[in-house]
Amino acid sequence: MKRSFALALAALFLFLLSVNSFSAQRKAEYGAGELFVSEDGLWRCEITGESSVSLYSGIMNLSAYNGDETVVKVPSKIDGYTLVSIGKYAFCDCERIVNIVLPDTVKEIGLGAFNNCPSLLQVVIPESVTKIDENIFDEQTSVKIASVKGSAAQVYAKNHGIQFVEIGTSSKAKTGWKNVSGCWFYYNEDGSMQFGWKKIKGKWYYFDDSGIMKTGWKHLSGEWYFFDSTGAMQTGWKSIAKKWYFFNSGGKMRTGWLASGGKWYYLKSDGAMATGWQKVKDVWYFFNSKGAMLTGWQKISNKWYYLDSGGKMLTGRQVIDGKVYYFDSQGRWIKLDKDSQKIVYITKTGNKYHYDPTCGNREYYTSTLSDALRRGLTPCEKCVHA
Ligand SMILES: [Zn+2]
Repeated sequence: MKRSFALALAALFLFLLSVNSFSAQRKAEYGAGELFVSEDGLWRCEITGESSVSLYSGIMNLSAYNGDETVVKVPSKIDGYTLVSIGKYAFCDCERIVNIVLPDTVKEIGLGAFNNCPSLLQVVIPESVTKIDENIFDEQTSVKIASVKGSAAQVYAKNHGIQFVEIGTSSKAKTGWKNVSGCWFYYNEDGSMQFGWKKIKGKWYYFDDSGIMKTGWKHLSGEWYFFDSTGAMQTGWKSIAKKWYFFNSGGKMRTGWLASGGKWYYLKSDGAMATGWQKVKDVWYFFNSKGAMLTGWQKISNKWYYLDSGGKMLTGRQVIDGKVYYFDSQGRWIKLDKDSQKIVYITKTGNKYHYDPTCGNREYYTSTLSDALRRGLTPCEKCVHA
């Protein structure tokens, strides 16, 4: 008799269970974007996909959690749906909550999820969470984030000055490279996260204080380095944003003069290779489009210049290969062969000569071009080099 009663109870239990799973199946008919309150009345949810939900709180300061527990272990499934994200303001205004444990089905935590939770001391965030809004807490200073080493939660805690409680090392990547939220990290043989410089398979990488692998420019110990998109430190010549730079074998960006492949180059103070005219310590030099310093006679923008063996642009009277040449103050050669007796115009006090006697509307006297040059006068920009 007792035994059959127990059997009947078991049958009733099974019946109730099937009714329950039937109602759960019915819930699965919600469409995307639909909202519902869980059967236990504790959760407000939004359907985000086929069989997944997000905790929902459409209106600010309206909690998605309706309970009043102090330690809340959020379920991974609500009425048959898998919880995949903690929606905006989901736990906002949950004044009693001290500790929240999120399930490892959650991938994302939204804006203000834990705003105005004055009692909150700790949020346990699983490794599955890879996307965390920049502001999931407000002014709470006492809250701690607990998660595994190498998780997005650890990076978040570091970047937001939140105390981090380590609860084990990532199970997925104990050693080697790991990508979290688009950032690369590296774990050493002992499972520790790599910070600073590290040579991996013959290439140097740099990991910042959060363990994030750096790409692009980085200023370290007073030197500039460049890491390409794979994080590898660059050496030698490198074109970056249409400018050429040179990094020595240690990866340090060079500035100033550089001898490379039998040619001289000049790297400006920002490291960019000079092309065209460049003034270095009051001397003008000319670099071709590939950055190589030129010497000797050069025709540049239809004017002749002479750059000595050190690349220095010459001015004034010069003897080159036994012949006398005149160059103006800007290094342009002044051809004198047939023009040396050309009449030029000079003021009494001026240090320029003019071709145009009305230039500047002043009183001029005449001279010959060769005389003017011998006296060191410079050509007028307006009428001579016009
Ligand atoms: Zn003039």
